[in-house]
Amino acid sequence: MKYAVGVDIGGTKIQFALVDEQGRIARGDVVATEAARGAEGVMQTVVEGIDRVIGDGCARIEGIGIGSAGQIDFRTGEVSFAVDTLPGWTGTPIKQIVERRFGLPAYVDNDVNAAAVAEKCFGAGRQLDHFVCLALGTGIGGAIVESGRLLRGASGGAGELGHVSVDFNGPRCSCGNYGCVELYASGPGIARLARETLAAQGTAAEAGLGAKEVLADWSGGAAYAALVMDRVIRALASAVAGIIHAFNPQAVIIGGGVSGAGDAFFAALAKEAAARTSPSMRGDCRIVPAGVGANAGVIGAAAQVWHYGPDAAASRVAL
Ligand SMILES: [Zn+2]
Repeated sequence: MKYAVGVDIGGTKIQFALVDEQGRIARGDVVATEAARGAEGVMQTVVEGIDRVIGDGCARIEGIGIGSAGQIDFRTGEVSFAVDTLPGWTGTPIKQIVERRFGLPAYVDNDVNAAAVAEKCFGAGRQLDHFVCLALGTGIGGAIVESGRLLRGASGGAGELGHVSVDFNGPRCSCGNYGCVELYASGPGIARLARETLAAQGTAAEAGLGAKEVLADWSGGAAYAALVMDRVIRALASAVAGIIHAFNPQAVIIGGGVSGAGDAFFAALAKEAAARTSPSMRGDCRIVPAGVGANAGVIGAAAQVWHYGPDAAASRVAL
């Protein structure tokens, strides 16, 4: 059995795993990023984690795949841009450091692009050549697969779909634009809408009210949560309709914590998105939950090794 090391680098935690060709995790662990230590400290944690996963060296390891938060130049494996959750991360030559240290080929991409590789290999994108992934979490990340390949753009930044604006009069976003979809349909976005909705009803939100609680209240039939989720779904459907018109995908695959809202969420989203999409395009596109689950980031990171590596020609589709 062949293996690859997968590493998923986020602002709060870093996940490591030894992954086989079927996308199964043989072993692995999760550690705190401790991003305040800066890029050097984080890279030290990355190198130590890879060492742990490689272990006694008995497994046949073909390479190391890394998915990282931020904008990554896939060609060079450097961080083009990272926000303040990873201070000093911009400019870090991840690929070079890892290849020199371990003498194995390394592939480095944005974490949502890596998750899209996992969906293509093992999940909801398996039979598809044209699909878009949205990851609803602290922000909203995106990845676009067109004719079996990830769309990267001029500097590796393509697919930042959380910054598609759904209201040009909306609140200001960190990117500079107004009313970006991640202000409404991310975890913090849902919490903000809940506070606003309760305030308009003259009720103070309970401390610690977050997206998870709102989704649970929605399932439980709470009136305020229905108002909140109506706005969330309309905002997300508006962005999804724009994405369908732009890329004519076979599917929009939605993952991340917020997508755990279940069948009612997907049914309402599909109905609203269809109402906002030209009849000629809507029939081609399904809106489906991600198939790989909570470990998609680290599994996709590892899967890059086979999909870009020397065995890529023999693999199902080279992304
Ligand atoms: Zn934005």
